[in-house]
Amino acid sequence: MKRGTGVVVIKNGQLVDGTGAAVVSNGVLMVEDGLITFAGAAADLPQFPADARVIDARGGTIMPGLIESHFHPTYFNVAALEDLDIKYPVEYVTILASCNAKLALECGYTSARSGGSLFNIDVWLKKAIENDLVPGPRLAASGREICGAGGLMDWNPEFRKIGMEGLVLLIDGPGDARRAVRKLVKDGAEWVKTYPTGDAAAPDVNDHHTLCMTFEEMNAVVQTAHNHGMKVTGHCRATEGIKNALLAGYDSLEHGTFIDDETLDLLLQRDVPVVPALYFELMSIERGPEFGMSQQVIDGHRETLDGGAESARRILAAGGRLGMGGDYGFAWNPHGDYAKELSFFVNYVGLKPLEVIKCATQTGAEILGRSHEIGTLTSGKVADVLVVDGDVVADISILQDRSRFITVMQGGISKAGLACGSP
Ligand SMILES: [Zn+2]
Repeated sequence: MKRGTGVVVIKNGQLVDGTGAAVVSNGVLMVEDGLITFAGAAADLPQFPADARVIDARGGTIMPGLIESHFHPTYFNVAALEDLDIKYPVEYVTILASCNAKLALECGYTSARSGGSLFNIDVWLKKAIENDLVPGPRLAASGREICGAGGLMDWNPEFRKIGMEGLVLLIDGPGDARRAVRKLVKDGAEWVKTYPTGDAAAPDVNDHHTLCMTFEEMNAVVQTAHNHGMKVTGHCRATEGIKNALLAGYDSLEHGTFIDDETLDLLLQRDVPVVPALYFELMSIERGPEFGMSQQVIDGHRETLDGGAESARRILAAGGRLGMGGDYGFAWNPHGDYAKELSFFVNYVGLKPLEVIKCATQTGAEILGRSHEIGTLTSGKVADVLVVDGDVVADISILQDRSRFITVMQGGISKAGLACGSP
């Protein structure tokens, strides 16, 4: 991805650096050739050239670009799980994924980790974004997801004589698990997304207390992935699935819904970040009836919401790390609503705005394995910056309103927002 040239000074705003540190009320950010060279109080700003580009933050907020840690670029706002796989041909879903990536960037998300993708779309989308062919967040790609046969994602009935063609590699035993990861190695994925457990969405045989992979399969995934320098995450709701993931050596957990004392201790020992993705549950409860969800499914989402919120509070209170990501791409939780996750964590789960912003910036970069480059407003890092007309610490919901964005910057170049395209 190209970096900007010359000097950019962003001033007249409060500086929120993404580390959770106190706000610098009259802050300035200076960028040179796409890298941050100064982040601090206006009074301490070094001399800068007269021809520098100056962006006025209008008394609002200067902060790091947001990071969506559970992004499904190929989920196209579906109302039925089955549509995620092969409702449309891969060619069309690739275009939809490109539109979702552009939207995410316009929403202030300058980086994202894919939580799984139809076929290999996210791998190539990432390449297109990095080559500046299409706009979108810097991506960490996962390719196809892995699930045990008969598990949550194995929904095509046998009479159709097709497996899960596009979205999921179905496995049965450690040998299959290794083979699936080796396929992802060749495909160019960086993360391996697995399904250790079921979900409230499948109440009959794969609910949120059901396991969808064995420990041996998960262990085989991790050993193979780590050997090739890849990281592993998984959809973990049931307590035993969380425990298996932590013991097998997972690098992050998606959801981490039903954590108990033992799994919390394991999580903290290994310092594994968790991406709860909880606003999805609230939306399933509130809007599920519109989309034909049964009461049994909605009850399961309620249990998941309550368990997940409690686990998230406990993890953060105990010194653990949370990433912000929301499984957006369902009809009741569509692309573009990403920042609602942040408001939800303030208003419903009870986190402080600066904590949530840290989860959505610094911790996101740590999950991506790129915290040396992005995630905070620190000298030497790449200038992925969001400038907002408003005090997001006083009202986090401002981040949901793109019309308040003065600029969304990647590598010192304005890619979206009102300042986009100015010299
Ligand atoms: Zn997901």
